[in-house]
Amino acid sequence: MAPYWSRDFGNAASRTHRYGWRAEAAVELARERIAGALGAADPREIVFTSGATESDNLALAGALAAHAEEGDHLVSVATEHAAVLDPLKAFARRGVRFTLLPVNGDGRVDPADVAKAIEKRTVLVSVGAANGEIGTLQPLAEIGRVCAERDVLFHSDAAQAVGKIPLDVEALGLDLLSCSAHKLYGPKGVGALYVRRRRRSGARLRLEPLLHGGGQERGLRSGTLPVPLIVGFAEALALAQAEREAEAARLVALRERLFETLLAALGDGVLRNGPLEGRLPGNLNVSVSGVPADALLAQLEDVALSTGSACSSARPEPSHVLAALGLSPERARCAVRVGLGRSTSAADVDRAAARIAAEVKRIRGEKAALGLDG
Ligand SMILES: *Cc1c(COP(=O)(O)O)cnc(C)c1O
Repeated sequence: MAPYWSRDFGNAASRTHRYGWRAEAAVELARERIAGALGAADPREIVFTSGATESDNLALAGALAAHAEEGDHLVSVATEHAAVLDPLKAFARRGVRFTLLPVNGDGRVDPADVAKAIEKRTVLVSVGAANGEIGTLQPLAEIGRVCAERDVLFHSDAAQAVGKIPLDVEALGLDLLSCSAHKLYGPKGVGALYVRRRRRSGARLRLEPLLHGGGQERGLRSGTLPVPLIVGFAEALALAQAEREAEAARLVALRERLFETLLAALGDGVLRNGPLEGRLPGNLNVSVSGVPADALLAQLEDVALSTGSACSSARPEPSHVLAALGLSPERARCAVRVGLGRSTSAADVDRAAARIAAEVKRIRGEKAALGLDG
């Protein structure tokens, strides 16, 4: 990224001098690399945005606006990220209808439910590739087949999945896919929306832009491109892809080590939330019975744990994801989300487990002294 902050400071949209050409060449190389990593047939199918939030909004609002004549209904899932759910609620205030599908106890949606939810006026189905709180991977290929049969657009918020699990937009039948660079160790403030050029019916995929102006990104996203961030995004994705398999195996081993250590230290009161299989390698979510997560986290400033999603952890309500799994409010209140990643070592895991176990014992001891049941 370094040269593009200063030495190669050209605007990628400047066509009249070599400084602009150099920036444009860097952006186009990044676009090709990202398209290749996602299995896109054509680099022009990658639209750079400010991140997955913008990509989700562009996919949903853009598809609705472009198909306003034929449709006014969307299908999504109860466990989606706020960047999908909140736009749906905003559209509903303007008369758009949406169906939120339930999930099973593992957080997985049934493709047959997707088929049942699609109506004549359904424009788009949006199903996140992987859930950030409980790690659940969704059956995208099956859902893609349903959407293709019914000629409905298929979007996936893959911010948690790109670079972590194998993903191929062609194999999965995706028309639109959102991702964010910082979720795969790239810079914050840049992301992409994959936009298939031709739908499987052969028709051109239509999308209305959110931002109007200079006409960058083939008119789909006006605004000067952040060249250094885009270059960093492509490099980060290439690194994540190169390491993906080995890193996934390492993280699964660390995750199981953490869970087993907590179980050994604290006993049966440690419950795993989310699936055993079909899960993001670096995600663990555990409830420690009788120990509210906020009380636990308050004393663990040096261990970076969270309750729900980082974006909404300022909100006091229990996680909508855990509620959708059918967990009791009590178990949801005691749920802690642990993310393991590239910089996490076995020593980190052991230290975190020891700190968590000590703090749980202290809270349990306090409760016992007060005569409160676990
Ligand atoms: C992080 C995240 C987002 C939002 O990404 P930004 O980079 O903050 O825009 C959207 N969806 C999912 C699933 C995420 O994990």
